[in-house]
Amino acid sequence: MTDLRLYNTLSRTIEPFRPRSPGRTSVYSCGPTVYSRQHLGNMRPYVLADLLTRVLRLQGLEVKHVINVTDVGHLTDDADEGEDKLELAAERSGSSAFEVARVWTQLFKRDLSLLGVREPDVWAHATDHIPEQLEMIGQLEQRGLTYRAADGVYFDTSRDPGYGALSRLKASAPHTRVGASSVKRSPADFALWKLSPSHSPKRQLEWPSPWGVGFPGWHIECSAMATKHLGPQIDIHTGGIDHVAVHHTNEIAQSENALGVRPWVQVWMHGAWLLFDGEKLSKSRSEERRPPNLDDLSPLGVTPAGFRYYLYTAHYRSPLHLSGEALRGAEAALKRLRAVVRAGTIGEAPAAAPSARLTALRDAFHDALRDDLDAPRALSVLWEIAEQPAPLPLRARLLRELGESIGLNLAPAALPPNDDALVESLVARRNAARVARDFALSDALRAELLAQGVVIEDSPAGSTWRRA
Ligand SMILES: [Zn+2]
Repeated sequence: MTDLRLYNTLSRTIEPFRPRSPGRTSVYSCGPTVYSRQHLGNMRPYVLADLLTRVLRLQGLEVKHVINVTDVGHLTDDADEGEDKLELAAERSGSSAFEVARVWTQLFKRDLSLLGVREPDVWAHATDHIPEQLEMIGQLEQRGLTYRAADGVYFDTSRDPGYGALSRLKASAPHTRVGASSVKRSPADFALWKLSPSHSPKRQLEWPSPWGVGFPGWHIECSAMATKHLGPQIDIHTGGIDHVAVHHTNEIAQSENALGVRPWVQVWMHGAWLLFDGEKLSKSRSEERRPPNLDDLSPLGVTPAGFRYYLYTAHYRSPLHLSGEALRGAEAALKRLRAVVRAGTIGEAPAAAPSARLTALRDAFHDALRDDLDAPRALSVLWEIAEQPAPLPLRARLLRELGESIGLNLAPAALPPNDDALVESLVARRNAARVARDFALSDALRAELLAQGVVIEDSPAGSTWRRA
């Protein structure tokens, strides 16, 4: 058995993971800005966070996991200009910013649950943590790391010698453009507190502060919420790769300077992009140019579990190109694994203990996960198990257990009654398995059909089926 090793964006290496408190670990995941529907690419980092917390628990660790909900302060322009995404969505929809946040948060949580992502221990909403954010900005001000400008309070990156260690960009190299109206001293400086503009319509989301009525910057929210719920130092912080250059770089600057700790976070983990390449996934989206979300999978015959399987076909640090073909392939693979499990679940489980080979494969599965969450390797071990000559019920039991441990439900759902098209497709797949001499799969599919009251008759001319 190997130790858990994780890739740390901060060091750019894979390191053995050692939680700061024996037996316990803390994980913070940057959550969504809830002004619209989260698309499929947005969901990838949460499947990563869920896989991570599952693997940590498999190691016997007690995990405290926090996901935040950004419901104020995320501007349409990352250079601290533009409009608040929540206020803008409220204005466009004619509802309140709180209603916008409520609707999209609810849908986001539903999507997570469909994907088998477990609820975190804490959902932290930015608007519920205004005092904590004010306190942290006050700490930074006391330490001389801020300056006041006409439109708010800014973090002075020139005062932080460690600034940019995560992104490895020099603070002097502008990673965000400076707009013509910018009041920032340096392009890398960022807003901690923005003052409500006096001329425009009154903001819905604003609070009094020592610097005037306004709202927090996006980055300070995460620093303050993480600190409140997980303490001054965190074991693991996750997010999308797009967070490295600005959001996480700024979270580190704020937290390490306000709290006087270094490193604030021990391991930074980032999920790679899910790329759409402009391909249309289904005809129903032909009129729209928005990225696909979970509801767009069903017309393709792909379930949320199939999408999760698809995400596991690549390592979390490898970009994935979304295509209908790849999604359907993942769905078909998931169904084949479920067919094996179904067939094995129908039969009587023998008293025999798993063979040495099955036990070794179980270990190989866990070794893959401990090796920086190598899900593609773990999937290939599941396939090795499915194709072992061991008794089917033993394989089925192990597949179910291991699938469950990474959030893949391999318990087969009942076939809809009298769905001839589905029966035909199962029969066709069984015929293909027979031709390929994959008798384990062929038998599994026959058993699956039988469980649905469908009898297959093989003859030299081919196979026919009838309902029993
Ligand atoms: Zn964040």
